[in-house]
Amino acid sequence: MRRIYLDYAATTPTHPDAVKVMEPYFTDAFGNPSSIYSYGQEAKGAIEEAREKVAALIGAHDDEIVFTSGGTEADNFAVKGAAFASSERNHIITSAIEHHAVIETCKFLQRHGFEVTYLPVDKDGLVDPYDAKQAITDKTALISVMHANNEIGTIEPIAELAAIAREAGVCMHTDAVQTPGQLPVSVDDLGMDLLSMSAHKFYGPKGVGALYIRKGTRMAAFMHGGGQERNRRGGTENVPGLVGFGKASEIAREAVPEESVRLTRLRDYLMKSILEQIDGVRLNGHPTQRLPNNVNVSIDYVEGESMLLNLDLEAICASTGSACSSSTLEASHVLLALGLTHEQAHSSLRFTMGKWTTSEDMDGVLEVLPRIVYKLRAMSPLLKSRQ
Ligand code: PLP
Repeated sequence: MRRIYLDYAATTPTHPDAVKVMEPYFTDAFGNPSSIYSYGQEAKGAIEEAREKVAALIGAHDDEIVFTSGGTEADNFAVKGAAFASSERNHIITSAIEHHAVIETCKFLQRHGFEVTYLPVDKDGLVDPYDAKQAITDKTALISVMHANNEIGTIEPIAELAAIAREAGVCMHTDAVQTPGQLPVSVDDLGMDLLSMSAHKFYGPKGVGALYIRKGTRMAAFMHGGGQERNRRGGTENVPGLVGFGKASEIAREAVPEESVRLTRLRDYLMKSILEQIDGVRLNGHPTQRLPNNVNVSIDYVEGESMLLNLDLEAICASTGSACSSSTLEASHVLLALGLTHEQAHSSLRFTMGKWTTSEDMDGVLEVLPRIVYKLRAMSPLLKSRQ
């Protein structure tokens, strides 16, 4: 049976061209970039070339890129680094629908004396910039709002939020883990001071990412150790991973304009067809201001987990909520923030498309999903209790 992978927001396969350029750095070119002899300098050259490619993807200068072990570390670095940069400011503004990498970091800081404002979102998942403006005090150190939400795909008005932050002299961070490779990302157009990225979301390897830090931004160092990454993040660099990240960034930069149009077409086809073919379906997230590859729906009277298992039997990989919460039975904090009931939140299903998704894959889903839903509804205690 042909497998249909529709969970590209959880992770993507590493692009074969990225794998190819990484290989020599595991074996022949294994040097430590801190070593001054040629082996080391070869590795150092490779990571600096990768840095240029990552910087080019988001319109940054190479010395504004600090490599990390992925999106989670970049988010931790951004939030803690900005929070600890100033002893006078102890207030952070974020949104209720951030990834756990930001939310849990904020909760950690709350336990250490910081105050955090969690901005609400509307029914489509949008933050209102006016709320952010109202929340700013003379103690605010940081506004952190994600570029696009990983569960529902809503794209946030972060350029407007950044303009508000700039006017108030507050640092602005965005978790952009879900956007490079999907949307054009320019740190200047968006007005960001800090921006998190993760290679494995756009065909790079896992465990590699970056934090963009605009020149002049006050930040505490994150990882204390050797002087790597300009004393901001100590530790011997993951050379093969960074080389793969560089290649993936180069590929993404070229592919985005065409790929975002192609994915939007697939997304709209799947979204419209599910809504037409199955009754009792709610689209989660903004209908148009959303990632080109994201479809998220709540289907009345069926549990997301049961749908996932049944789809898996048909060789279709999808998700309920984010990868990290799909192994727990807690309702998604993102869906609850939209105003969904626990029941609706537990009946969500997310399909995320990517480079190797075709329209036949969409038809493959449409062929089996209605059947699965009607089978599960026939057995549903939720539906029976309503009848
Ligand atoms: N932020 C967002 C929006 C994400 O979707 C993810 C991963 O799902 C992360 C952060 C964490 O990134 P990583 O898996 O690289 O640690």
